[in-house]
Formats: sequence, structure tokens, C-alpha cells
Amino acid sequence: MSTNSLYRLNTAIWTLDHSAAVQLQQPGEPYPGWCPCYLIEHPEGLVLFDTGVSRAMVDDPESYGPNGAPHMLELLETLDLEAGKSPVDHLETLGYAPEDVDYVVLSHLHVDHAGNVDAFPDAEVIVRKAELRYAFWPDGAQRLFYLEGDISPLRDLEADVTAITGEYDVFGDGSVVAFPTPGHTPGHQSLSVELGSRDVILAGDVANSRVGYEEELVAAFSWSLEDSIESIRRVKDRARRTGAEVIVHHDPDDQETLPDPPAALE
Ligand SMILES: [Zn+2]
Repeated sequence: MSTNSLYRLNTAIWTLDHSAAVQLQQPGEPYPGWCPCYLIEHPEGLVLFDTGVSRAMVDDPESYGPNGAPHMLELLETLDLEAGKSPVDHLETLGYAPEDVDYVVLSHLHVDHAGNVDAFPDAEVIVRKAELRYAFWPDGAQRLFYLEGDISPLRDLEADVTAITGEYDVFGDGSVVAFPTPGHTPGHQSLSVELGSRDVILAGDVANSRVGYEEELVAAFSWSLEDSIESIRRVKDRARRTGAEVIVHHDPDDQETLPDPPAALE
């Protein structure tokens, strides 16, 4: 019987054009996407799934990382940091210090998911090998979303990075399992979590909205449409087999059904 607890920690709300978040639907309409990360308390350790948006980047994008991120200035106009807190601040309110985090599992390395990895230098970072490689040499529009300030700490020789390929069972007991869901990016992954009363799948960005997940309408800037759709179906199939609830990462309605910390899903 699992005794995991899951906390949803929102770091910001970032509003995209609806047609970007949900493939060509409702152009001109805003889509206010939450930017959460999640803390999982497992009897053998603490897991953080994603790390949200970096406030250091928002404060000074032009000097964020080796080459800065000046292209973010325009995109940041719709970012609302007041809607959330940094993961470190969230952890503090839950009674944890950054060094208490044992594992950081990253769905992918986009700016809204991997923004504070360097705040957890004692953690083992679990990320897909394909994502690590692609993040340092992305194509086209994908270049907007991979910031050197976010990902360069992973190249530090002191960094404890585990580059995974297939499914990865974090504790070896089946209760926290990362599985590949490429498409949004080449090395995207989702996370299955067993709780005491239910199982959930933290889908990440297989789709950016609930309707996108249900109707297979992915973000317009996704790396591969074909792989994205296969991954949505993989998540649906896994949810059907396990009875897990799927949580769509950016979807405001999905997020509003989750408790705010210090309350947790049990
Ligand atoms: Zn995202």
C-alpha cells in the first residue's frame, strides 16, 4: 500500500494565444496556462517533478545563462508570477529545504518546466537522454523555449544527472514511474504516481489543454505532430489500464481541481 502524497506547486500563469496552445483553435483568444511543478513525498525520498519558471530569468533575461535570453522579453509580457511562487518558496512553506529534494524528474527542458534546476544541487536529476541532447541544439521555434540559463547547470561536471531511455521506476516499487511520451519535444516524459486513494498520471505537455488531450489537438509549436498524437494515446491507454486520473499540466480547469498547498492529494 503506497503512502505517497502529491503537492501541486504553481510557479506562474503564462498566457499564450489559444491557437498556439491548442492547435489552431480560437485564434486571438487568450489561454492562461498554469506553470506548476509537483512534490511527491515517498517513504524513501522526495521527488520534484518539473521546476517551473525561473524568477532569475524573468528578472534579467538578457544575462540569463552564457548567451542570455533577450528573445524572452516579448514573451514575458503575459507571464504572471504573482499567480505562483518559486519551488523553493513552496518547499519552505511545506517545511522543506532545497537539499531535502532527492530527485528532480523533468518532463522536458522547456523554460516553463526546467527553470530552477540549479536550486537543487544535491538532487539527482532524471531526464531523458534524447531531451538533454536536443535541448542544446534545437530546431526552429523550439529554440525559443530552451534557455542556456536553465540547462547549462546540467553540463556542470558536479551535476548528478541520470539520462534515461525507457521507462524508469524511481524507487523500484512501481509507485513513481517516468515513461516516454515524446512529441511535444523529442525527450518528453510523463510520470505515473500511485497515491493511497488513487493513481494519477502527470501528463506534462503531451497536450497543453484538456480539450487538446481529449481531441488530440497539441500545441502548435510541438516538435512532432505524429509522435505527440501517439503519446496522447499512450497516456490514455495507460490511464485506462491503471484507472489513473490524468492531470494536464497547463490546463486551468485541471489545475483548479487540485488542492492548494499545504493540502495534498493522498
Ligand atoms: Zn509547458
